[in-house]
Amino acid sequence: MRLVIKYGGTSISAAKDIQSIAKHVNALSKNNKIAVVCSAISGTTDDLIEISQSIKKENKAKAEQLASKIINRHKQVSKQAIKKQELRKKLLKKLDDDFKELVAVIDGMVLLGEITPRSIDYLYSFGERLSIKIISAAISDSGKKSVSLTGKEVGIVTDSNFGESKPLMDTTRLRVSKTIDLLFSKNTVPVIGGFAGADQHGHITTFGRGGSDYTATIIGSCIKADEIWLMSDVDGLMTADPKIVKNAKLLKEVSYIEAIEMALFGAKQIHPRTFEPLITKKIPMKIRSSFNIKNEGTLVTASPSSSVKNTVKCVSNIRHNGLIDIRGGSMVGTPGTAAKIFETLAKAGINVMMISQNPSESSITIVVKNDVLDKAVNALEMELLGKIIKKLEVTTDVAIIALIGSGMRGTVGVASRVFSAIEKNKINVAMITQGSSELNLAFVVKDQDSSSAVKAIHDAFKLDKIN
Ligand code: ASP
Ligand code: MG
Repeated sequence: MRLVIKYGGTSISAAKDIQSIAKHVNALSKNNKIAVVCSAISGTTDDLIEISQSIKKENKAKAEQLASKIINRHKQVSKQAIKKQELRKKLLKKLDDDFKELVAVIDGMVLLGEITPRSIDYLYSFGERLSIKIISAAISDSGKKSVSLTGKEVGIVTDSNFGESKPLMDTTRLRVSKTIDLLFSKNTVPVIGGFAGADQHGHITTFGRGGSDYTATIIGSCIKADEIWLMSDVDGLMTADPKIVKNAKLLKEVSYIEAIEMALFGAKQIHPRTFEPLITKKIPMKIRSSFNIKNEGTLVTASPSSSVKNTVKCVSNIRHNGLIDIRGGSMVGTPGTAAKIFETLAKAGINVMMISQNPSESSITIVVKNDVLDKAVNALEMELLGKIIKKLEVTTDVAIIALIGSGMRGTVGVASRVFSAIEKNKINVAMITQGSSELNLAFVVKDQDSSSAVKAIHDAFKLDKIN
């Protein structure tokens, strides 16, 4: 089997975990061709982001202090994780070159006092540059040949949209498959840095936060993998947040479209574009924990077996949002009202999470994150109040509760089950939306009611008995 295994940051933070991953990869590679993709060691990307913010604030000392923190973390893990002295020395030497470059990059950015999206991506790519060298050395240490490659080195070519780049798949496919097939033929495990690639001029680009998942599926699609495993510290996708619902269950199987919805709703943070490369190739993906490899995790496929087509598969909640009710008599029957509202919000850089308009057209309700609520209200007041808008009503601290499951499509009575469960708990619903795909039913309650709402839905649909 051709397998792409991606490890998240927490899976590769401690030396002993790195050693057991190396052992696992080694064992799997006896019967399979394995390509490993790695995130940065946990905390590293956050530190790199803080470095760029410190440079912006002209706080050189803070940037240097953070760089030392990154350097020490990687040195320490390397010393503990690699047993063979020869390999350890070689690794520390290679890392040292990266450390020197990292310090030089920071110096350069401080000197110029200029941080561009391009230099930021270059800086942020260091997390994966460092982690792959350690993981690859650990695999070699376990007795299996391995090399480390950055996204650029393996052949991921992207557009030049720094911070949010997209791969140019045809070029990428040619380059990546060539690089990896050569390594496979030499019985060598490639350890590839996630999150970053390079544009056609060779400048490093990144895919945005969480982008290593995306790298894993890009690689999987290029090498025609039979399966892709996303390994992290959670067992898979769950019916609800186990911190809220004690008897939440692991979902054994979901479809791509359900997983996309679940990823968006934060059940487990997965880069939103992760599924794109899989859909045409129909490559199955498993979401698993590196700390519990006996557990098969959640299987994500194009068409799950019919035995698992439950109406509702999971209920999730996103708290700390604000709701804006936009009203005005002159909104009724006026083409372009919605366009003006959303254009205003877009210009202010506000991401809108939920939208509904009642058929009388006299009000449009939207939900945005609490931390941009002020900015959103301000923009709407400045631009549109007294024109098409008569009144804005704002509610802070609301939660979106979302039910996901493709079995809801065409099933009669889902909404009535949802809202009678909510009513029994005397919870007030401020807004409801359902897309015509019927894949997702979402409603808004106060933050303080969100846990009881999630529990009530979980009970009403007996999600603890799902598999
Ligand atoms: N290291 C990057 C991040 O923390 C990419 C990833 O982990 O997927 O966002
Ligand atoms: Mg990550």
